[in-house]
Parts: sequence; C-alpha cells; structure tokens
Amino acid sequence: MLPIERINRIKELVEDKQTIKISELSEVLNVSEMTIHRDLKPLINDGIILKTFGGISLVENKPHTQNDNLCIVCSRAIHSKLGYRIILPNNKIEMACCGHCGLMREYQLGDQVIQSMCQDFLRHTTLSAKLAWFVFDTSIDMGCCQPQVLTFERKDHAEKFIKGFDGIIKSFDEALNLIQEKMNLSHSCHDNND
Ligand SMILES: [Zn+2]
Ligand SMILES: [Zn+2]
Repeated sequence: MLPIERINRIKELVEDKQTIKISELSEVLNVSEMTIHRDLKPLINDGIILKTFGGISLVENKPHTQNDNLCIVCSRAIHSKLGYRIILPNNKIEMACCGHCGLMREYQLGDQVIQSMCQDFLRHTTLSAKLAWFVFDTSIDMGCCQPQVLTFERKDHAEKFIKGFDGIIKSFDEALNLIQEKMNLSHSCHDNND
C-alpha cells in the first residue's frame, strides 16, 4: 500500500470511528507504529485529526464551543481569508477572526493550545501557525483588527509581499511578543469583549 493510500485509509477509519488507537491502526494497516506516526503528520498539519493519548481523534469541522462563527476574542465575524483556528484539548476549537486575534488568544492560552492553524495570505492554504510568517505594519488594510497581522506560509512570499506593501516579518514567537507590545502601547485598538 502506498503511503498516500494508507493516509486516506486512516482518514476513513477515523471519520468512521471518531477516535482510534495508534496500535489499532498499525495492526489494521500492517505497518509499524512509527510508520503510522509518519502518516499522521500531514493529517495533523491539515487540522483533520488531533493526537490524543496513544491515539488520534477526528477534528470536527464545526466549532461547537462558539456561537455564530464569531471571533472568540473580539466577536467580529470570522474573516474568510484571515481566519485563525485554535485547537484545544477535548476537541475544543476556537476561531479567531484574523491573525491579530489569533495571536492575542494564543498568548492567553499558552501551553493549553494543542495546535493552531492559519491561512496563507496569498494562496489561502491552511498551515500550522507555529510555522507561519507573520507580517505586521503593511500598507494594505484588510479591514479586520488593528494592529493588523497577515500570515504567510513561505518566508520568500512574505518578503516579496513587503517589498510591495511594506511591513515587517516575524516568526510565531516573535509575533506573539510583538502583538503584546503593540497592544500595550496603543489604546486605540478594540478592546476584548471578555
Ligand atoms: Zn477578532
Ligand atoms: Zn480580526
């Protein structure tokens, strides 16, 4: 069986059962647990499944802890191109309207965050926020929260972007600190609703 076939099979199995053990997958697919772990990576990165103790579980598509698809931080509607998703224990998913609120929430939640996903600003692909490049202070105003934060999958794309539209590029950890600094300095930004 090709890896891609195995990955699709794992997807089917977890969609069917909601949760499944690594040992079970290894048995059903007749490969080592190490191979299973490798197969799971793209599914985890895509936010389809999440790791649990000794197994995996399906990530539900609909956030069920929040009403009306509003931002967990500022209650704006989730921006279709900027939306930021935070996955917490027990399949809890929080949605933030944009990278700005995503980072604000990440800062509040700290180690509780299992994984978070944002979107590439140019290609609209979903990627792990920890691996994203965050662009601040650009001249394009997307109309969501200020200070605005845009997310990019590739640093070279972010670099090309700021050549045209200005801005600075930060890694996840740098961005997390910078958003706090900017929010502490400026009181003209929206307040968190709670
Ligand atoms: Zn927000
Ligand atoms: Zn926003």
